[in-house]
Amino acid sequence: MRVLLIEDDALIGNGLVAALKSAGMTVDWVRNGLSAQEALREPAYAIALLDLGLPGMDGMAVLKAARRQGAETPVLVITARDALEDRVAGLDLGADDYLVKPFEVPELLARMRALMRRRAGRAISRLSTREAVLDTGTHEFSHGERTERLPAREYALMQALMERPGHIFSRSQIEERLYGWGEEVESNAVEVLIHSVRRKFGKGVILNIRGAGWMVPK
Ligand code: CA
Repeated sequence: MRVLLIEDDALIGNGLVAALKSAGMTVDWVRNGLSAQEALREPAYAIALLDLGLPGMDGMAVLKAARRQGAETPVLVITARDALEDRVAGLDLGADDYLVKPFEVPELLARMRALMRRRAGRAISRLSTREAVLDTGTHEFSHGERTERLPAREYALMQALMERPGHIFSRSQIEERLYGWGEEVESNAVEVLIHSVRRKFGKGVILNIRGAGWMVPK
């Protein structure tokens, strides 16, 4: 899962990047309003964490501009400003939820999961098809008789595919979901991941649609 972190404070930013990565996420970190506005227009992010006090362009203005331009990324505002009017204004401008600093990482992760579930219109933290179930809380994947907790990249791959069973994802669409900016991606990285998942769960878990990409069956 790819996360956009918008935060100018180096200490908080470094802490959040480390926490999110150890929770198995890919993180792109921007530190000012203009880069944030640009990044929010990219559809690759599952969620954005937005600090309000930013240099150059205030977080509220970033959010307002991004929503006006049609950006649909779910946004969780993380801010020290806990005044009620700020919260209300932020929600009016298109934030999906709020978390007031300082907060504990487990609460942040739980809010992120809840927000993404709401966005996907699901009440439970599971993605399922006829053959497979992916638990987005524990990262456990079941297919047929077998259940295993997936390592971070394999989880990210299966999450992307399981969100749209029957939809064919191209290599570049998968890479976009799995890797951050400036990350070296080996040309066969996606195949290696898919091979690893198939080795554990069987060939039918991910179908190769020749010349087009991959999908999980509905
Ligand atoms: Ca700040």
